[in-house]
Amino acid sequence: MIETKGIIVLTDCNECKAKISDTAASCPHCGAIPLDPARSLPVEVFNVDMKVTTMFWFFLKAAFAAVPAIIVIYTAWTIIGGILAPVFHL
Ligand SMILES: [Zn+2]
Repeated sequence: MIETKGIIVLTDCNECKAKISDTAASCPHCGAIPLDPARSLPVEVFNVDMKVTTMFWFFLKAAFAAVPAIIVIYTAWTIIGGILAPVFHL
């Protein structure tokens, strides 16, 4: 028999400090509604943070990728230019 187990992340209840599922609508022990830190953040601020982080990583990756790319393009350009220059009298 195959059993499928879902991933349940346990958080502390704000009221009674009992371990409850982060997907629970309310605490099964005291009935308190758990606070969601992601949902309590203003949506705009959350989205801007995501965009800034994404852009930061994009530019960081681009900067690292640009160095070998420039070397490869420069080398290829020099080799191609060296081959083509006598042929086309460039
Ligand atoms: Zn509780």
